[in-house]
Amino acid sequence: NPSSRISGITPHGKDGWEVHFAAMTRKQAGEDIMMLSVGDHDFDTPAKTVEACVAAVRQGRHHYTQLAGLPRLRAAMAAISAQATGLETRPDQVIATPGGQLALFAAAQATLDPGDHAIMIAPYYATYPGTFRAAGADFTVVEARAEDGFEPRAEAIEAAIRDNTRTLLINTPNNPTGAVYSPDTLEAIAALCRRHDLWLISDEVYWTLPGSKKHVSPRALPGMAERTLVINSMSKSHGMTGWRIGWLTAPADLVARLVSLNLVTTYGLNDFVSRAAIEALENAYGVDEIAERYGARRKAFLDAVRGFNDITVRGSQGGMYVMLDISAVDFDCEQFAWRFLEAEKVAVMPGLSFGEAARSHIRISLCQSEAVLHEAADRLRRFIAGYG
Ligand code: PLP
Repeated sequence: NPSSRISGITPHGKDGWEVHFAAMTRKQAGEDIMMLSVGDHDFDTPAKTVEACVAAVRQGRHHYTQLAGLPRLRAAMAAISAQATGLETRPDQVIATPGGQLALFAAAQATLDPGDHAIMIAPYYATYPGTFRAAGADFTVVEARAEDGFEPRAEAIEAAIRDNTRTLLINTPNNPTGAVYSPDTLEAIAALCRRHDLWLISDEVYWTLPGSKKHVSPRALPGMAERTLVINSMSKSHGMTGWRIGWLTAPADLVARLVSLNLVTTYGLNDFVSRAAIEALENAYGVDEIAERYGARRKAFLDAVRGFNDITVRGSQGGMYVMLDISAVDFDCEQFAWRFLEAEKVAVMPGLSFGEAARSHIRISLCQSEAVLHEAADRLRRFIAGYG
């Protein structure tokens, strides 16, 4: 039998992606399905990044790299972290990882011993529970309420803190809700982390997509740099999902420890991907264009669904997703997602994939053109009129 550690990562065998994978299989078999279920761009990586990679391959960048990342890559990542926080950030406070997901895994491994307790906020990104379970940690899910625009209340987080709580994980701009936490919320969260001596894992992979709000990193708040681990990624900001490149910004002594995790997992990043990433970071390839594109899509979709009876939009200020409250319709979110796929050939994510707090919602991804999003809104209206 496989180890209990591995079996325990997704103990129910379900991971919340069932509708998405069923839709993907059908699409690959030739069916015309609108994929609004996934957080991956419908466009390719910016051409300049691709060219930098091709040049690197031709130049023989085929070798092992430093375990924590090429020095110039770490410097470029540190520069972005400095820019986001206004704090001086040195390359030794940064470790490069193959995507934000491995930075999350590393952050959980670095801050939690087996049996320790962690807190996450729901609705949450679907991999969070498994990431904590893989660290052997116990966790509590604190609900951010729809009526609060999906921003968590510090009192609710504080009420979940136990003697063995060591880590709090937050995500702004948020997947799946699109909430962008206000400075007040972040101040309150920072204060309780200081008061209870908690690590804060701040997942900021959507940092370039804050919509009309400003993205604030809690690492910039007083007394937080020494206890905050920021998750970053080039997947969304630079259009590089499949390249697998991201980073963790954390106190230097923790980063030094984490190099040993890279030693036994990735053994460092891909050389030519690292070279392309350096150029993409130093020149911000694609960043503004991608942010503008998602801004326009968000606006187009929200304008299209705003007039719908039976649907309420919550959160949805930034990031790549819109959350729709479907509680006025007479079936649960999973039934909704399966039936919407059957009837209208549109794949969406049931809210339950992101925790109980999102049970009455579906998540729409903005990873398609405005024309597709308009068509999806029309199909949604028709579907609800037929079943609601
Ligand atoms: N964190 C959040 C909130 C995400 O939505 C994602 C991807 O969708 C990730 C982390 C991981 O992204 P990646 O591993 O591609 O950087």
